Amino acid sequence: MRESFLTFGSPVIGEEEIAEVVDSLRSGWVGTGPKVARFETMLGDYVGARHTRCLSSCSAALLLAMRGLGIGAGDEVLVPAMTFVASANAVEHVGAKPVLVDSVEGTGLIDLDAAEAAITPRTRAIMPVHLAGRPVDMDRVNAVRDRHGLLVIEDAAHAIGSEWAGRRLGSFGNATAFSFYVTKNISTIEGGALMTDDAELAAEVERLALHGLSSGAWQRFSDDGFRHYEVVRPGFKYNMTDVQAALGLHQLPRLDTWIERRARLWERYDELLSGLPLQTPPAPDPRTRHSRHLYQVQVEPGGPLTRDELIAALVTRRIGTGVHYRGVHLHPFYRDTYGLDSADFPVATDLSDRTLSLPLSPTLSEADQNDVVEALGASLRAGTRS
Ligand SMILES: *Cc1c(COP(=O)(O)O)cnc(C)c1O
Repeated sequence: MRESFLTFGSPVIGEEEIAEVVDSLRSGWVGTGPKVARFETMLGDYVGARHTRCLSSCSAALLLAMRGLGIGAGDEVLVPAMTFVASANAVEHVGAKPVLVDSVEGTGLIDLDAAEAAITPRTRAIMPVHLAGRPVDMDRVNAVRDRHGLLVIEDAAHAIGSEWAGRRLGSFGNATAFSFYVTKNISTIEGGALMTDDAELAAEVERLALHGLSSGAWQRFSDDGFRHYEVVRPGFKYNMTDVQAALGLHQLPRLDTWIERRARLWERYDELLSGLPLQTPPAPDPRTRHSRHLYQVQVEPGGPLTRDELIAALVTRRIGTGVHYRGVHLHPFYRDTYGLDSADFPVATDLSDRTLSLPLSPTLSEADQNDVVEALGASLRAGTRS
């Protein structure tokens, strides 16, 4: 038995990050300032997007993308049922209707045939979610977009560093939202970014993120003279601070190494778990680079333990896991507001019941991983389904 509890994911924060945060604190510039501007440039260069706006979260990026693109009351947006609720919440917050779409078996990604079949004259946009870091087929997404005149807002919270056909996600000409929350592949503790090739959208997101002011606040306080601001719309308060960007400046350069480490651990899980009654994730599509954000397994239907029983058994063996996710359609607000039935989303419902995410982070050691596999084996062998 392990002595310490193994958490399912933890950020890697090194001395460079600490020194950079201290530098911000000592500089006196702790709010939105030069480090946010540097981090935006660095992110844009990495992804290959024309415009990057750092924000307080990915949820804020999704909401501001919706607002900035003029999506609102009377509009429908196609959203996968199998995602974190932030994806659907963003649609609700602009007064539009999220129309949920079932998953493809195996990968759990949005079923693009089902999405296309759900298009109505009110459909304005589709929100593909690159679940676990596995890219949705961007050729097909953009073909659906062009055929039906839709907007695309990608939820790439898991997918900084993922690629479709040799191009990084975020560079496909759509609005793309990234998350730098604590558990994500790189972290600014809280934070996110919106990337787009649309200069007007980028300018609108910048205004909306800071009260609707006509120009960036940090320029107002710089040494090139005082200027009055003007409020051109009622905006929000979703800016990133320099203290957050200080972390990001030292996280992003290490992302590729971390993804390689995650990939090695992923392949090792595949080998070590092969004898157990668990379904391991499908191999990444060779046309893609998978950011390996989550390693998700499914308990077998009728297997020795239910998913929730397995999670509880692992906790007693000091192993933490995650559930990504119980589908949006199963949460009371969405179920009751739209009268949704779990049987209407059979694949997402089944995944919601059987999926768990195993510990995976660049700091996970082989010994930690052995502990996870041993605990899984012991739990499943001891298990009798209640
Ligand atoms: C984490 C996450 C979000 C929200 O990210 P925040 O930065 O915490 O707002 C949105 N969508 C998905 C799929 C996520 O996993």
